[in-house]
Amino acid sequence: MSMKFIVVTGGVMSGLGKGITMASIGRILRDRSYKIVPIKIDPYINIDAGTMNPFQHGEVYVLGDGTEVDLDLGNYERFTDVELERAHNITTGVVYSAVIERERKGEYLGQTVQIIPHVTNEIKARIRDVAANSGADICLVEVGGTVGDIESMPFLEAVRQMQGEESETDFLFIHVTLVPFTALGEQKTKPTQHSVKALRELGLQPDIIVCRCKKALKVDVKKKIAMFCNVKPEAVISAPDTEDIYEVPLLLEKEGIYTYVMQKLQLEQQKKDMAWLKMVERQKALSAGDNAILIAIVGKYAELEDSYLSIKEAIKHAATAIGCKVTMRWLEAEDLEVKGAITVFDNVQGILVPGGFGIRGAEGKIKAIEYARVNKIPFLGLCFGFQLAVIEAARNIAKLKDAHSAELCDTPHPVIDLLEEQKGVTAKGGTMMLGDHEVFIRGDTLAERVYGKKKIVERHRHRYEVNPEYVGMIEREGMIFSGSDRSGLRMEILENQQHPFFFATQFHPEFKSRPNKPSPPFIAFLGACMRKR
Ligand code: GLN
Repeated sequence: MSMKFIVVTGGVMSGLGKGITMASIGRILRDRSYKIVPIKIDPYINIDAGTMNPFQHGEVYVLGDGTEVDLDLGNYERFTDVELERAHNITTGVVYSAVIERERKGEYLGQTVQIIPHVTNEIKARIRDVAANSGADICLVEVGGTVGDIESMPFLEAVRQMQGEESETDFLFIHVTLVPFTALGEQKTKPTQHSVKALRELGLQPDIIVCRCKKALKVDVKKKIAMFCNVKPEAVISAPDTEDIYEVPLLLEKEGIYTYVMQKLQLEQQKKDMAWLKMVERQKALSAGDNAILIAIVGKYAELEDSYLSIKEAIKHAATAIGCKVTMRWLEAEDLEVKGAITVFDNVQGILVPGGFGIRGAEGKIKAIEYARVNKIPFLGLCFGFQLAVIEAARNIAKLKDAHSAELCDTPHPVIDLLEEQKGVTAKGGTMMLGDHEVFIRGDTLAERVYGKKKIVERHRHRYEVNPEYVGMIEREGMIFSGSDRSGLRMEILENQQHPFFFATQFHPEFKSRPNKPSPPFIAFLGACMRKR
C-alpha cells in the first residue's frame, strides 16, 4: 500500500479540539490494524515548546528523546500509543532555521530563497521523511492554528502542493469547525461556511468536515453544511461535547467517519480491536459511590488545569484500572501560605504536588508536603514536588533550618543544587535534563513494590537535583532514596518507610501513562488513597 496522508486543519477559533479529533482518528485507524504516524505542525516561531509559559499554552509535554512539545503530542501518544520524536513536531522556527542554515552554506546555488518553493519544500520534505521513516501505513498531519492566521499560510500551501503531488486515493483533508447554538437552540452554520470559504481561497477543499457542537447536528443542518461547503452529507460529522475525551473515537466512528475515510483512501475493512471501547465502558461505569476519593493537587497554575494535563490523564488512567472515582481539588499553592489555610486538606485522601519552577508558591507546597508526611496522608511528589519533599525533610527531619533549593534562593544548605553539567549553561531552550533516562531501584522498598522491577525508564525535565552531600543527613526517620541513576549519585526516588504512602520522583511518570497502560506510581498512589478512606 502506498503511503496515505490525512491532513487536519481548523477553523473559526482555536481550542476546538482539533488535536483530540486527529488523535481519535489515529485511534480508530489503529484499532483497524493500520499503522499510523502523527505529525503536529505548530506555526509559532519557537523551535519547540520548552520555553513557553504553561499559562498560555498548557503543559509542556516531554517526548522520550527529550523534545519539549505542545500538549497535543501528549494526546497523540496517549490515544495512539505511538512513541513520538523531535521530527514529529514541525514548527515555523524549525523550518526557517533549517532553510536559513542551508542558505548560509550556499546550498541554494545563488537562488533567491523564498517561502514558495524553498520553505514549502522544506515542510513537505519533513512530512514525507517522517512518514517514510516510520514504516506507517497512514500519516496524520495536524496543522496547528486557525485557517486565516498569517503564521499557518506556508504550511497550508505546502499541504496544498502535496495534495496535487500525491494520488487522489492517498490524500484526505479534514476540517474541524464550530457550529454554535443561538439562545433559542438553533444550530448556526455560517461560521463553518466562512471558514471553509477561507480554506477554498487557499486552494484547499475539505473532504470531511468535523463540526464541534454542544449537541449532535440535526439532519437538515448537516445537509446545509454539505451543500454550502461542497462535501457529501455523510462527510459532515457531528462531534458533540463529551464527558470524557476518550469517548471521542467511539463517537466519531458512530458518525461514520471511518467508513468515509476507508472509501476515500481505499482502505480495506479490517476487524476491529475492542480494547479501547471496553476501557471507555469501564471508565463510564465508575460512579461516585463507594470508591470515591478526593485528591488535593497543590499547584501554581491550578486555575488552568491544562498546565497539568498529563497528571490529570494519568490519574484517570489509574482510576479506571483500579476502579475508583477520583475528584481532584485544585489548590493554588500560594493560598496555603496564609495562616490556617491547611484546613483545605480536611477531607482529602491524598495530596499530590506536581512539577514546577520558581519561588512563587514553593513554601505553600512545602507546607502541604509537611502536612501529608506528619498526618500520614498518601503523598505523591513529582519533579519539583520531589525536590520540595527533600527540602521539607532536610528542614524538619535533618533540622537544617535554612535548607533550600539553589534554584529558589541563596542558602547555606543547598540540598537541591544545579546539576553538574548545567553549570555554565546560559541558554534556556532545550538545555534541561530531558527525556528518557534509566532509574535503578533499591531492593525491599516501596519503589520496588510499585514498579515490580529493579530498572525502569522514565521521562525527565529538570535542571536541579539532590545535592549528594546531604543524602546521609536526609535518610532518617524512615526517609530513604530508593531510586537513583546508574552511578548511584543522582537521586531519583524518595520514600518514607514509616508512612503509609509517601513517594516522590525526580522524573515525570505522568508522561508515560496510557489509558490501557497506567503509570505504576499513580496506581499505587490511588490504591493508598482508597485504603485511607
Ligand atoms: N524547577 C525544578 C528543576 O528545574 C523542577 C522542574 C520540574 O518540576 N519539571 O529542576
